[in-house]
Amino acid sequence: MLVGRFAPSPSGRMHLGNVFAALLAWLDVRRAGGRLWLRIEDLDPERCSRAKAEQLVDDLQWLGLDWDEGGLQPQFCQSQRTELYAAAFAKLQAAGLVYPCFCSRAERLAASAPHLGEAGPGVCPCRDLPAAVQQRRLAAGERAAWRVRAPAERLAVQDGHLGEYVENLALDGGDFIIKRSDGVFAYQLAVVVDDAAMGVNRVVRGRDLLSSAPRQVWLHQQLGFAPPQFCHVPLLLAADGKRLAKRERSLDMGALRASCTAPQLVGWLAWLAGLQPEPRPQHPKQLIAGFDWQLVPKEDIVVNTYI
Ligand code: GLU
Repeated sequence: MLVGRFAPSPSGRMHLGNVFAALLAWLDVRRAGGRLWLRIEDLDPERCSRAKAEQLVDDLQWLGLDWDEGGLQPQFCQSQRTELYAAAFAKLQAAGLVYPCFCSRAERLAASAPHLGEAGPGVCPCRDLPAAVQQRRLAAGERAAWRVRAPAERLAVQDGHLGEYVENLALDGGDFIIKRSDGVFAYQLAVVVDDAAMGVNRVVRGRDLLSSAPRQVWLHQQLGFAPPQFCHVPLLLAADGKRLAKRERSLDMGALRASCTAPQLVGWLAWLAGLQPEPRPQHPKQLIAGFDWQLVPKEDIVVNTYI
């Protein structure tokens, strides 16, 4: 049975690109007669809030996208699942894969998914600190983020839509943070623990997260989990080639809901996805029978006209 998920972060309103990925994730599961969870990725207390999570749920419902389990119940909110992340952290620590990093500047971002261009590999001098020095600094109360030692190993991910994607874990992803110095667990750890705990075997999401897939597969392996199959979907670009999310701030759900109906938006996105020949209004349910990954472009999609 195919088990997928929506895993939005309530750090702001959903944007057109998130809706595009959510529609494809929904169609993928519904076409296969699988199950879909809604997990709220609200790890970062500074950026996420209950009100934003409620808005997110409301926006998905407005679109006509449903899910089988999940939503605002605590067991589906990452902020309430810290014990599971702590257990996984302890396991990695016991395997000698974790070290404290006293110098991290990028750590504030670690609780969020690293969308394109947001986080480069971290070569951290703390990697080689002698254990005695680590202990002394920790005992002195110095704040530390926690990184995993990424091996200099090539890891190939078979993306269900884009094909093979290979990275050298050490060179491309680097020693990534799995826990911030304020105790907040990082996106990379939480997403792996949750996908495994929730039996997710298919992850459909934007191509901007493709470069996280090898790190996540590696974490699954270290923790003894079976990694899901990833299907990354193209990004929506403005005519100048920039990501729409960065370029057109007006295309968030607030603006979209004010300017069109849900079937208009869904039908237009389905047309961009190659699922119908013209942008005819559609309810998501009407698209299930004709959904086929073969029709969905692999290249990013330049959006020239708006609904
Ligand atoms: N919560 C992440 C985001 O909003 C997505 C995580 C994922 O799909 O792996 O970008």
